[in-house]
Amino acid sequence: MARVDAAYAGLRDRALAETLTAEDAAEPHGLDPLERLTCRTHRRWVHECIASPQHVFVVTGHRWCRDCSTAANVAVDQLTWHVSVTCPRCGHTPAGVATRQIVRTCRASMAAAQGRTADAA
Ligand SMILES: [Zn+2]
Ligand SMILES: [Zn+2]
Repeated sequence: MARVDAAYAGLRDRALAETLTAEDAAEPHGLDPLERLTCRTHRRWVHECIASPQHVFVVTGHRWCRDCSTAANVAVDQLTWHVSVTCPRCGHTPAGVATRQIVRTCRASMAAAQGRTADAA
């Protein structure tokens, strides 16, 4: 069984606790925090808390519409695994690598939460 950090020992989702532990350990060695499938702040899978205001990063354009200077909404459909990022003002999806990263990591996080790989979707 994979190691679980003491900070996450109380989590009921064992896969989540293991992934949090592994990603915390990998981050100082170069894992991009925005590539994580789990969230250290909320101690959840990233698709579960991506809608939180703390997941808006203006500098990188992560969940941020530059045209409107507005935080974009993220909708995650756990049945179809569809992830959409939309600006509430202009209705557009912010272009760029940050949006693709959100879609990719949320899908991978849903897959990991279900013990599958994103490719199986
Ligand atoms: Zn979070
Ligand atoms: Zn906009």
